[in-house]
Amino acid sequence: MKKVLIFFFLLITVVISITVIADVIQKPKEYNVILISEDTLRADRLGAYGNSNVTPNIDRLAEKGVLFENAFVNYDWTLPSHVSMLASLYGSAHGVLSVDNFINPNTMTIQKFLRGKGYYTFGYTGDVFVSRDFGYDQGFDFFDDEEGQSFSDFYPKLIKHLEEVKDRRFFLFIHSYDTHVYNQPSKILNMSKPDFDLWEEEEFSILNESDVEIIKNAYDSELHEYDQYIGRLYSKLEELELLDNTILIFTSDHGEEFLEHGKIGHGLGDPYEEIIKVPMIIRFPEEVDVNVKRITAQVQSLDIAPTILHTLGYRLPKTFQGKSTYDLIAGKKDRLHEFLFTETRGGISIRTETEKYILRPDYFEYYNLSNDPLEKNSLLYPGKRFEDEYLKFLQRNDKLREKIGIAEREHDVSDEIRKRILSLGYLI
Ligand SMILES: [Zn+2]
Repeated sequence: MKKVLIFFFLLITVVISITVIADVIQKPKEYNVILISEDTLRADRLGAYGNSNVTPNIDRLAEKGVLFENAFVNYDWTLPSHVSMLASLYGSAHGVLSVDNFINPNTMTIQKFLRGKGYYTFGYTGDVFVSRDFGYDQGFDFFDDEEGQSFSDFYPKLIKHLEEVKDRRFFLFIHSYDTHVYNQPSKILNMSKPDFDLWEEEEFSILNESDVEIIKNAYDSELHEYDQYIGRLYSKLEELELLDNTILIFTSDHGEEFLEHGKIGHGLGDPYEEIIKVPMIIRFPEEVDVNVKRITAQVQSLDIAPTILHTLGYRLPKTFQGKSTYDLIAGKKDRLHEFLFTETRGGISIRTETEKYILRPDYFEYYNLSNDPLEKNSLLYPGKRFEDEYLKFLQRNDKLREKIGIAEREHDVSDEIRKRILSLGYLI
């Protein structure tokens, strides 16, 4: 009888231990996490990605961290792209694809996960598509989405807050539209073309190279100003001695087209490289093994949350569709994804390391990226293999979406939000 009792005691101990360690790989690290997403930032405008000296502070961050040369978003505009980033779910899986949708409270996100582990979670954003109106405040202890604020507007509040919570483990999310609001090409160009209307697509054809230079300069000038705040934030983290205890990620939700394929803007249904390729830079605490500092393998927004959790030592929630990039960083792998998907309203990009297939409702495009990186010459049909992958992709997403469920907004967006959305240059 005694032996039987001891056996049961041991069995119960084992069961309890397994339950406790179920979502950890090792003893979790006590690092803070800061995730910065600057809206509308195409990779090639940064110094670290080949531009001239527009972003000295972000470039310095890139020198100290790991830079992903080929990082892609999973949707081409703000609302669905940020849900993908925070929930590690493709748009077809999370279903937040229009202003009628809302992040379903069932959705697991990085902030919810970390809050459940005792992290203090706080976020600052320039509102509209990353606001509580769409459920982004879920999982945050504190969420500041004051209307219309830029990074420079909320910077003093953010620093004061950071100083107050610096001795706790925290997750901080920072999003702003500083580089997005450059984009009133209509206003910029009206100086030289008084009747130019950005929303009349045929009008793009009247733009010439010097117009595009004007637009790019306006963009770079906003980006340069924004960059100074990244420098100030970095110095502050140094001063508060937080850097060695913090995983710092810098990225964006999509890029921007400057007439490479006949349009200006993003969210217009064209998953070309200038729209989907974004910066991704991660600075790790000193004690994390970093063996490769520039990663060439293609990665995606969906991989950010898994990379954070893997580095911290947690197992990934079952719904996360991305993969941790840590094995690339540690030098244990040199490829992560055979196929990457970016969805848009007008077509889906299915990308390998060297090819891109864009599936449109009524036609396709296919590019060999090795010898046509600017996607100028669409080639012949590459065979069924991309479509087979697409079908598998849809099936996986359908299953997840059924499990999570699509949440509809109870009310239409208010006139105020509608005005802000239009002011950012979106049509709704
Ligand atoms: Zn955006």
